[in-house]
Amino acid sequence: MKIPVLSAIRRRAACVRALGGRTPAFARQLHLAPPFLLDHYVPRYMMISSIDEAKKRSRAYAHLRNCNLCPRKCGVNRYEKTGMCLIGSDVVVNVIAPHFGEEPCIQGHNGSGSVFFSMCNLRCSFCQNHDISHQKKGFNLRPDELADWFLKLQEVGNVHNINLITPEHVVPQVALAILDARDRGLTRPIIYNTSAYDSLASLELLDGLVDIYLPDFKVWEPATSKRLLKADDYATAARESIKAMHAQVGDLSFTPDGIAKKGLLVRHLVMPGLEDEGKRIMKFLADEVSTDCFVNIMEQYHPDAHVGKPRRKTSASNGASDGLPLGNKNLEDVRYSDINRAVKAEEVSSVRKAAEEAGLWRFCDPPGHDGFNL
Ligand code: SF4
Repeated sequence: MKIPVLSAIRRRAACVRALGGRTPAFARQLHLAPPFLLDHYVPRYMMISSIDEAKKRSRAYAHLRNCNLCPRKCGVNRYEKTGMCLIGSDVVVNVIAPHFGEEPCIQGHNGSGSVFFSMCNLRCSFCQNHDISHQKKGFNLRPDELADWFLKLQEVGNVHNINLITPEHVVPQVALAILDARDRGLTRPIIYNTSAYDSLASLELLDGLVDIYLPDFKVWEPATSKRLLKADDYATAARESIKAMHAQVGDLSFTPDGIAKKGLLVRHLVMPGLEDEGKRIMKFLADEVSTDCFVNIMEQYHPDAHVGKPRRKTSASNGASDGLPLGNKNLEDVRYSDINRAVKAEEVSSVRKAAEEAGLWRFCDPPGHDGFNL
């Protein structure tokens, strides 16, 4: 069933309802909340002008016709063929559901309205979601059909937000879907949950549509990202992207119910033996983004995807396919043997210590009591 389009007047009424009956201007005048605490929140997409909306729609279609949306810069017409991400003009969605595996301030009590997009513009050898990101499995949706699902998550799931997971390669479709859902009554904040391998052009398209940016910052060294992510420019792109995201939405802010509504939340998954790269990432966030940056230092890495699989020798290079030197009998057994283990507690705590020493102080920690982490 198609959900009807809202007029501008009804959209404004929905906006006022979201503010508890006040007009946006009146709410701003009364806003005396301390930093990071919002009295009320209205999603950014409710505020964009009809001119900006028209420009975004036209840019979204232009990007699809000549896709240089991510740092891969394939330059393909996605109505006719696919680039490195293997996704055309329709998005492919693997799972859409309220999700309870996110940070407490994101999932809340009702869950985060998660949309897991199939495929990715990176090829992480250790991908913790490889059954979705490495395989084109799921159902095809046009932007208007994707908008239907945003509305179902809101109306049926009563979720706190719409959480777009691995969306870097489908930004134009997502932008069109947000605008369409907005016209039909969407009022939940939008989360852009990314690997941070984004381009400034795609972030510009998202400016005014996304409320929370949730980037991973995975590794720091080009040699590491080339070997493990198949992208030697990953850290350069991630640094530029995270700075642009912060410039758009600022530091993470909450309404009094403890739910995050706007801002930047950076995740870092500590990797075995790569804690020095994690420390560089923390220093960058403190020095070049904000010491008030909200950070989740994650310890749940486990060998997955290609890690630990039987090792292959490539005939062309007479070397191994995982970039590690041959010659050590133990190393020859499995691929990516250097990260074929869980992280140690001391590796995680050393990254955390470096973050604190750099000046960061807002971390996603468990609550210091037995209650909910809100
Ligand atoms: S989004 Fe896909 S097609 Fe476009 S540049 Fe990136 S990998 Fe290539």
